[in-house]
Amino acid sequence: MITAAIRRRLRELGAVAQAIADGDRQRRAGDQGRDELGDLGRAIDQMAAGLSHMIASMRDEASRATFGKQLGEALDKADREVQVHEVVARAMSGIADDHPMELLISDSSQANLERAAAHPQAGAPGCRVSSPYDCVAVRRGNLVSFEHSEALNACAHLRGRGQGTTSAVCVPVTFMGRAIGVLHATGTPKTPLGAERAQRLATLGTQIGMRIGTVRAFEKTQIQAATDGLTGLPNRRNLEQQLRQAALGDKPFAVVMCDLDRFKMLNDTHGHAAGDNALRTFSEVLRQSLRDHDRAGRWGGEEFAFVLVGAAAANAEEMIQRVRRRLAQALQMGKGLRFTASFGIADSTMSRRPEDLVRLADVALYQAKAQGRDCACVADPSAAPEPVREAEVFGSGIDHATAHTEG
Ligand code: GH3
Ligand code: MG
Ligand code: MG
Repeated sequence: MITAAIRRRLRELGAVAQAIADGDRQRRAGDQGRDELGDLGRAIDQMAAGLSHMIASMRDEASRATFGKQLGEALDKADREVQVHEVVARAMSGIADDHPMELLISDSSQANLERAAAHPQAGAPGCRVSSPYDCVAVRRGNLVSFEHSEALNACAHLRGRGQGTTSAVCVPVTFMGRAIGVLHATGTPKTPLGAERAQRLATLGTQIGMRIGTVRAFEKTQIQAATDGLTGLPNRRNLEQQLRQAALGDKPFAVVMCDLDRFKMLNDTHGHAAGDNALRTFSEVLRQSLRDHDRAGRWGGEEFAFVLVGAAAANAEEMIQRVRRRLAQALQMGKGLRFTASFGIADSTMSRRPEDLVRLADVALYQAKAQGRDCACVADPSAAPEPVREAEVFGSGIDHATAHTEG
């Protein structure tokens, strides 16, 4: 009798072990009593529990790695900061679909935090923290979680939002040790975000910190490389690129070369600083006179150039009249010494080759100087001299400003 009972229990334990081995990880031997077979049953159950736990954490780890990898790939494609923000919003959905989340980011002055992304479905928690260093997660430089917004040690920014009590997770976003912003997620105290999802929020924080920092640094060097330091206008390299782009497009376009009149005398009489101020005043006038598709920049020295897309020579003449009027007004209003400018115009009906148009506009500018200055001339392609070597007029980087002498 005893032998038969033992055999039956052994068969049962064998079946349980086999079921677990076959993948039924919920299966357990259950209470088998206090004898040796009972111990065996408990050992099988413990083994099954350990196995389940291990498999679950391996799954979590694999899915965390997939999340991190996909996030990295998505961020690699984000070349501008707004694109990073879009990736953040999508990643938020991937972390949890029912927890409000937001990304608060500071501008490069690091003064103000503003919302840059919110959870597409669950919305933004609406944290009112206004500066990075007013955020406890940023100050600690670590993920911070709060179980209950009313707890004594909870962040003060969690209270008074009119959403009832909440739980919260906050992750600092940094680049090279400098605070850029914070990722913030909330839940109810009974349904907190949880450790696994908080970990993903932390991964998101680390990766976007690096990307936003890189994108900002890249944009800054791009802008610096394309901008003239004295006037803040596009520089010659930038203008040449605009011109090449206009030439590749199918719209008409005009090119204007412009040179300030008797500028050497202004410098010699009133000093270099006065000359610099005059250049800045003129640049401001140009900025005010531009329309959407117009680009104006400093070609070099006291010489400027405009690329007017969608314009013919006649439109360029109108733009120049605006510039001359505004310049006279600005100087009358006491913004420095009086000076004028001369202009040469060419357009894409004459040629679509950038170097031809620069040369034609340059010859027309020379004529305007010869006619007494403070005026504009349109190029006459039939009267233009033979082209000079390309390198001398386009893309050479040589200061073009020295090309004009007394006319
Ligand atoms: P024109 O009417 O024929 O153009 O006479 P101009 O005196 O303007 O022409 P010129 O080419 O003889 O002199 C240009 C002057 O512009 C010489 C140079 O000192 C001045 N200049 C060029 N770049 C700058 C600058 O960045 N700052 C200042 N203050 N002056 C500059
Ligand atoms: Mg000049
Ligand atoms: Mg000059």
